[in-house]
Amino acid sequence: YWVRILAALEKKINRQSYETWLKPTRFSHLEGKKLFVRIPSTDFQHIGDRYADLIQEAIDNLGLDVESVAFTTPEQDPRAPKVREDGGFAPLPSHSQNAPKQRLGGSTNSVSGPTPEQARFDWSAASQLNPRYQFDAFVIGSGNQFASAAAQAVAERPSKAYNPLFLYGGVGMGKTHLMHAIGHDVKRRQPHASISYVSGEKFTNEMINSVRYDKMTGFRDKFRNVDVLLIDDIQFLAGKERTQEEFFHTFNTLHESMKQIVIASDRPPKELADFEDRLRSRFEWGLIADIQPPDLETKVAILQKKAESEQTQLPTDVAMFIASNVRTNVRELEGALVRLIAWCSMHGVEITLAVTQQCLKQFIDTQVRKITIETIQRTVAEQFGMRVAELKQKNNSRQIVVPRQIAMFLAKQLTEASLPEIGRQFGGKHHTTVMHSISKIDEQRRADKDLNRTINKLMETLS
Ligand code: ADP
Ligand code: MG
Repeated sequence: YWVRILAALEKKINRQSYETWLKPTRFSHLEGKKLFVRIPSTDFQHIGDRYADLIQEAIDNLGLDVESVAFTTPEQDPRAPKVREDGGFAPLPSHSQNAPKQRLGGSTNSVSGPTPEQARFDWSAASQLNPRYQFDAFVIGSGNQFASAAAQAVAERPSKAYNPLFLYGGVGMGKTHLMHAIGHDVKRRQPHASISYVSGEKFTNEMINSVRYDKMTGFRDKFRNVDVLLIDDIQFLAGKERTQEEFFHTFNTLHESMKQIVIASDRPPKELADFEDRLRSRFEWGLIADIQPPDLETKVAILQKKAESEQTQLPTDVAMFIASNVRTNVRELEGALVRLIAWCSMHGVEITLAVTQQCLKQFIDTQVRKITIETIQRTVAEQFGMRVAELKQKNNSRQIVVPRQIAMFLAKQLTEASLPEIGRQFGGKHHTTVMHSISKIDEQRRADKDLNRTINKLMETLS
């Protein structure tokens, strides 16, 4: 059947397209009036849509008793009765005399045309990638230099530089931005590469739905047949055994066939609690790159770049003011800028420092006001698995001293409280003790990356 259809198509389609897309297909089998055709990978699935009319025409002309054509990859088991739902291979319109004659391709029910659900899975379209998240738009500073260099290396030589690339860092540090940038860049170099970006949450939800609706084959096929898999916020998979199991196999399949995997997480692999060891260890196979919060200069540069893309002039003193008053999170930084630009255009005024102070006063105040020493104590105690009371006791064991010093440091950084006030709230410590604690932490965090990260994480939680 398919050979005859192909022969008919060959006459109608230009040679290049035929050689590329149709020649590699093979007849698989017939199931009643449903014709199954083998395709090498999901990249070929679009041929059902693209040549729907021609295929239908060939079927009509040849007088074949075929009602639908399904395209399946070897990964899918075409003989399993579930295939139709798996791949969403909808039947051709009925040929019955009574039924109004529909054309193929007009509706989502075309030959192997994606169902609405499947359409969302169309990674090859790269529509999952935010066009704004490019390498060009990414400002490099000391905190993200390593990660962005690693991302560029991966984009230049997928699966050859580092595989997997594991990016981690706090909220709004640019992990998602870098992942999308890798996707765009690979696509630019290799237009036919299939790139799939998915969040841990979406991966989980789709897995659950696939199990529920018996569509695992389609699910597997989708994620195991890509050239680059970008999986964001992997921490979402914590404690989800079945999803982790599935991801483990996806990872292995891709890695074995030299496909690039990029993973983003809010923490390093070793801190991913409720993760299987075998997964955690695989995350460490390639390169692990962290992103630290941007320093002041980087924040200013990011603001100026963003303003530029909004065609807005941002005076340096304004950029400095925003950068030094909005905390480490780049997303908040952008939020402040967007608000400022909107405010100024609404009031028809120019962006000046005075206007900025007025406009962002509330924005900045609420950030500060929210945080109290009590909140800090509670958050720190929770982080270290201790009671708040312990932070205030006169206990000088190391397990308690360090969290206490961190809490004092945060109190100084994030509240307006004076040193004596902080001392009072920590069980009556002398202000020199407080000062000593703070400078000790300040010093140590420069040398100790883990400590620095813990502090940054606490700051984020608090703000
Ligand atoms: P994450 O995924 O780490 O939470 P995102 O990638 O979503 O962070 O970044 C949040 C926002 O900040 C995005 O709009 C992103 O473009 C921007 N951003 C973050 N880091 C940078 C940077 N270094 N240069 C330019 N924009 C950045
Ligand atoms: Mg993100």
